[in-house]
Amino acid sequence: MDSSDFRKNAHALVDWIADYMDTVRAYPVRSQVNPGDIRKQLAPLPPQDGEDFETIFDDFKSIIMPGITHWQHPRFFAYFPANGTPPSQLAEMLLSALGVNAMIWETSPAATELEEQMINWLLTALKLPSDWSGVIQDTASTAVFCAVLVARERVTGWQVNDKGFTGDDRLTVYTTGETHSSLEKAVKMAGLGRASLRFVPTGDDHSMDVLALSEMIKKDKAAGFKPALIVASVGATGIGACDALKEIGIIARSQDIYFHVDAAWAGSAMICDEYRPLLNGAELADSFCFNPHKWLGVNFDCSVHFVKDKDSLIRTLTILPEYLKTREGDAVTDYRDWGPQLGRRNRALKLWFVLRSYGLDGLRKMIRGHVRMAEDLAKTIGAAPDFEIVTRPRLSLFTFRVYRPGVAHGALDAATEALITAVNDDGFTYLTRTVVDGRPVIRWQVGQVHTTEQDVSESWDRVQTLVKPLLATL
Ligand SMILES: *Cc1c(COP(=O)(O)O)cnc(C)c1O
Repeated sequence: MDSSDFRKNAHALVDWIADYMDTVRAYPVRSQVNPGDIRKQLAPLPPQDGEDFETIFDDFKSIIMPGITHWQHPRFFAYFPANGTPPSQLAEMLLSALGVNAMIWETSPAATELEEQMINWLLTALKLPSDWSGVIQDTASTAVFCAVLVARERVTGWQVNDKGFTGDDRLTVYTTGETHSSLEKAVKMAGLGRASLRFVPTGDDHSMDVLALSEMIKKDKAAGFKPALIVASVGATGIGACDALKEIGIIARSQDIYFHVDAAWAGSAMICDEYRPLLNGAELADSFCFNPHKWLGVNFDCSVHFVKDKDSLIRTLTILPEYLKTREGDAVTDYRDWGPQLGRRNRALKLWFVLRSYGLDGLRKMIRGHVRMAEDLAKTIGAAPDFEIVTRPRLSLFTFRVYRPGVAHGALDAATEALITAVNDDGFTYLTRTVVDGRPVIRWQVGQVHTTEQDVSESWDRVQTLVKPLLATL
């Protein structure tokens, strides 16, 4: 493909993308295909001879598109959002054209320096300590993995990196059952083992019981364990639970335990002053993560990982420092040792485009709109006869279920489960489930960039229609 063919194909593709943005509401939100439907349409073997771009693009439209779940759909209320705003998409196009590997400063000084400055912008926007450093990772899972590794090294005097576990080190990690499963994966990957995880009980609002935390630490220490890490959540995935960072941070500091805060989803909302109190105490953390790819309009992937002490992170992950040294030395940042992988994308460009295109005020307006729509809808659902709100809106996420007085939990739970299936088979809107206190609930989060009040109310109308036959069986 020469540059003139590229130009022609790219223009056709951009036209298609713009049309897609205009017409995305016409698609079912969740792909309606069955397992294997897509695979069986794909050629069994790679072609020997090259094919026309038109043919490839036609196949994309006819084969791939039906198997796409539309994360950019304004009636996507499932999981958390993964928003891709137009400016972010444009930055992504440039990134793919440049194809930069931003592993060290020298391999693209602009990538590194832009990343450092975006970290500073976001520290300011979130009112976090200005002397923190940070790095842009792919996902929050990577940030928590780094936190587990640094915590492991700190508590063992950087011995595990050298010798591996010797059998004397029995480390413990404290969190709650609300915390994202990426922590459990991280303790497995870091060799601590699942048995190191301590699930601290939670109170009525599903936040960590801080007294129980300090008792568990005391007991573990007395039994010869080495408490290594506390992970707190702000806006946990299930129902948006928020831990009390200040109280937890005080314990972490007094016990010298590494403290990581996971605000993957909710962190973006902290650019609004009225929600910022949820981060009170975050300044006591050793590391903090949030995903602009969830709720700040930056398309996947872009996860910001702030650290209080960058030297601990680098010391944990650095390899062969002499061999990879460049002549700039300490004068520049080489992000290669701030995460597990060497090669890295230049995700900062997307943040720069998005923050400048919308401004913080534009992004605040979007987030406040989502929160208001969720609060209004929760009020409506709370007042509806056949439903009850189970967890009230935390920012823009709440949960509800089918309810009828006098009907046994088993039947109501079955109706709730059946409703989720009916909604997602229908495709008009997309909702996901979780379990609260042992019973299934439906999560509803509002967070897609283009969602309107009409999208919300039409989706709620559809839910009410779909529940009717299920209510008849109660
Ligand atoms: C989404 C989410 C994660 C994991 O996100 P990835 O970036 O996909 O790893 C972690 N924690 C919370 C609270 C989340 O909502």
